[in-house]
Amino acid sequence: MNIQHLLRNNIKYLKPYSSARDEYKGKDAMFLDANENPFNEPYNRYPDPLQRDLKEQIGKVKNISPALIFTGNGSDEPIDLLIRAFCNPGEDNVVVTDPTYGMYQVAADINQVEVRKVRLTASFKLDVMAMLNICDRQTKLIFICSPNNPTGNSLAQEDIEKIVAKSNALVVIDEAYIDFAQKTSWITALDKHENLVVLQTLSKAWGMAGIRLGMAFANIEIINVLNKIKYPYNVNVLTQKEAFKALQNTAQKDAWVKSLVELRAQLQHEISKLPLVKKVYESDANFFLAKVEDPINVYNYLVNKKIIVRDRSKITLCEGCLRITVGTKEQNEALVAALTDYIK
Ligand SMILES: *Cc1c(COP(=O)(O)O)cnc(C)c1O
Repeated sequence: MNIQHLLRNNIKYLKPYSSARDEYKGKDAMFLDANENPFNEPYNRYPDPLQRDLKEQIGKVKNISPALIFTGNGSDEPIDLLIRAFCNPGEDNVVVTDPTYGMYQVAADINQVEVRKVRLTASFKLDVMAMLNICDRQTKLIFICSPNNPTGNSLAQEDIEKIVAKSNALVVIDEAYIDFAQKTSWITALDKHENLVVLQTLSKAWGMAGIRLGMAFANIEIINVLNKIKYPYNVNVLTQKEAFKALQNTAQKDAWVKSLVELRAQLQHEISKLPLVKKVYESDANFFLAKVEDPINVYNYLVNKKIIVRDRSKITLCEGCLRITVGTKEQNEALVAALTDYIK
């Protein structure tokens, strides 16, 4: 696999912006180089463009070299950057499963990149042959979300492995919900596969959606490409500081994950007993699908009670389904109570 060969030509030959903090990287000096205001410490200073302290901390938590980490403004940033770096508008394409997370399609559409969709099987599994067969020389990226949004299930490791091994494109595995699954991260396979990119985020298990911190893990060539085309100061000072602090407390994250996994099982059990519910789907995430009679009516009924779930009933393979995010014990009980009343 030749990463340079996959890249768009204009990106391959791009001369990136060089910021003041790129040209002088030391810490202890008098900085008169970046036109900053000398007052209002510490927010008067531009952030570290390469987020080095934060990446060191992520490296410790994830057991990976900081050189193989990209951090951005949510996972949305690396999704967009990968498409912009590798896909020529109007020529190249990306392959996604159907259904999956909507941002791959939006980012591709913004960049005028064709999206080729391959249906999951009826039991939400990857159709490996169809995924590989739909690829051509213009396929630059394959997005695989596992655990998948909105279906909630993890995709089989052997199936993903086949796609990664046989594909000439980059395979991007979105692990936004990996902490809720008892599965090994694909980060551990990075040294085996040059074409692998793993996405994670602080938005779900770490409870930090508000600060916007997404991570991409890949070989150094791919990380260098992302760093070359990102906005120079893509992660602000406050986010770098708060993310660093959160990542020092993995015990807190683990405790949240443990309770959310227990709460998920309880909520699934309670919801499955309701007469209006036809099926509750298994989940490796902090949400699950529930198939109900008359989903739009149930949705609107809940909205009236100021309880908001996600209507996924018009999504491929999710006919009749609402997507329910697991809340606190009290929130889950309120949801079940409301749905119990609906029957009366
Ligand atoms: C929530 C979610 C993300 C997180 O996106 P951020 O931009 O990091 O908040 C990424 N991928 C999937 C599939 C998600 O559901």
